[in-house]
Amino acid sequence: MTARSALSASILALLLFSAAAIATAPPAHDIRVRIEPATHRLEGRDTLRFDAPRAATLLLSSRFRIDSLLVDGRRVQASKKTVQGFHRIALPAARRIEMRWSGTLAPIDRSLDHRQTLAYELPASAETGTFLPSGSGWYPMVDGSLESYVVELDLPAGQTGLVPGRLVTEDRKDGRYRARFEFREPGEGISLMAGPYRIEERRVRTAAGSEIRLRTYFHPEIADLAPGYLDSVAGYIELYERRIGAYPFSEFSVVSSPTPTGLGMPTLTYLGIDVLRLPFIRATSLGHEVLHNWWGNGVYPDYARGNWSEGLTNFMADYAYREREGPDAARAMRLAWLRDFAAMPPDDDTPLTRFTSRTHGASQIVGYNKSAMLFFMLRDAIGEDAFERGVREFWSSNRFRIASWDDLRRAFEQASGNELAPFFGQWLARSGAPEVRITSAKAERTPAGWRLDVALAQSATPYALSVPMIVRTSDGDVARRADLSRELETVTLDLPAEPLQITLDPDLRLLRRLAPAEAPPILREAMLAGAPALVIPTAEPAVVAAARALAASLLERAPAGRESASTQLVAGLHSDIDAWLAREGLPPRPATLAPGRGSAQVWTVRAGDGRILVLVSARDAPSLAALARPLPHYGRESYLVFEGARALERGTWPSQPQAWTLGKEHTVR
Ligand SMILES: [Zn+2]
Repeated sequence: MTARSALSASILALLLFSAAAIATAPPAHDIRVRIEPATHRLEGRDTLRFDAPRAATLLLSSRFRIDSLLVDGRRVQASKKTVQGFHRIALPAARRIEMRWSGTLAPIDRSLDHRQTLAYELPASAETGTFLPSGSGWYPMVDGSLESYVVELDLPAGQTGLVPGRLVTEDRKDGRYRARFEFREPGEGISLMAGPYRIEERRVRTAAGSEIRLRTYFHPEIADLAPGYLDSVAGYIELYERRIGAYPFSEFSVVSSPTPTGLGMPTLTYLGIDVLRLPFIRATSLGHEVLHNWWGNGVYPDYARGNWSEGLTNFMADYAYREREGPDAARAMRLAWLRDFAAMPPDDDTPLTRFTSRTHGASQIVGYNKSAMLFFMLRDAIGEDAFERGVREFWSSNRFRIASWDDLRRAFEQASGNELAPFFGQWLARSGAPEVRITSAKAERTPAGWRLDVALAQSATPYALSVPMIVRTSDGDVARRADLSRELETVTLDLPAEPLQITLDPDLRLLRRLAPAEAPPILREAMLAGAPALVIPTAEPAVVAAARALAASLLERAPAGRESASTQLVAGLHSDIDAWLAREGLPPRPATLAPGRGSAQVWTVRAGDGRILVLVSARDAPSLAALARPLPHYGRESYLVFEGARALERGTWPSQPQAWTLGKEHTVR
């Protein structure tokens, strides 16, 4: 569904910080802000202190007027430019800056989908909710610097709100709600949320001895979900304290949003009302967001050298929950990662060191999934105990600091005693992934049993790989690993019984480009295609319009319209599609998708010439139009049956592992 992919891309990541920025104590804000959601009015004042005189550039959204500005107590004529919607205010060296500003916030736009919400950086307010993102310039940010702060909110009665940090005081009097928060560690900017919330609170004492205030700030219509969320948050904090170290903050809150957003910040997560209603969020995404208090908000990624935090969080949350379900669920997730990776045009792939935050489908495949697979392979390479020690070591030496992939490597080297530069080097600095295959195999009887020579090949510029293989023998399956570091290499395995078949990495433990049969086509291939074509095998205007709207919502790039394109989206009514398939000499509609089922069907085909086709077949034009909104959420599927906008059935075509069956060519000695 929508929610999983909507979560966790932090707008904060757009701000790049250098490690030098926190060499000294961060600038400290003392902000008081009054917000009137009914009229969108904001009035703010800030006293900003530096521990030593320094020149700074402040950034404030140009929607605000600067009412006064004092530098070390004196009024100054600061040089002020307006660039891309921000006042840029360059100030002389000073210890203390006082500013008052005021203006009108944007209205909340509830019509946005999640992709637009992620890009939506305006400070916005309404009685249903206020969200002032950290990068939006709702307060004077210090350019290029981490910041600590105290923020006092002043809201009309009936509204409550918060910013990340420790709640110091809170009161309701004179028709106002006031709350004061402090965040003493260097942080990546301040986001502010408010709404007509009902607050539920629970205090827990953790195994590590810290006392933590857990809260939900929920809209009244979902207030009944609060106890379940509080239970789950308490469980996750306990889980990750045991694995990593003490929870680094004094609170955690789950906050609802009127728009379909999904963000994690220190001490809180901000999730759409409809997202919070989804039953699986508590079991998956919530844990991911809690874990970000260690990875991302407890140790900061060095964005300029690659954001490792999404991959590590994905591995220790989403993926770990699948492992807890069992090996099949875990393998299914690795298959989904690798199938997504196979669906990505090679030109869109970038090295992990270049990933900062999710901006489009391909960046998620690299930054979340390829990165999680790296941690999975690392654990295979050094063992679970060393991996867990490395995680704790990385935490204790980098808490509240900016850390890079190099710091991670050092922690795992210390924990394992292994030299890991080659491992990290090949997976971080290179784009793409190896393609590995078996090119021949020969078995021979020996006095002690059987000898099996397997020739393995990989694509040019080889990787150093430990390739898992399962050998089926006359006496059961034998699991082996073979080291492969050249383009072609023959490995020899001694076996107790006669080998019959070899399967290459059937458990999908290697990050590699899957062979076509291992990676059956999924919708993602059309979504990410570099130059997709749209084929509409009819001239009926309503169908043509619905097909174009579907293409606009599904494809990340505009269709080029060339029928020779290697990826094609073919959309029309049932009879159009059946006739087109027959004309093209392609297999007919799969039997499981008889045209009578549902109002529309979608399926993928890999044609004999290698073309990937996504066929969308509908009963009538409105049924086709109804797919435009839901279909982009099903990128991992190979086929779906819809009734209106609701998916009745979905699935992927089976994946066929690479196997080599031994003939009778072996000789008996
Ligand atoms: Zn995340």
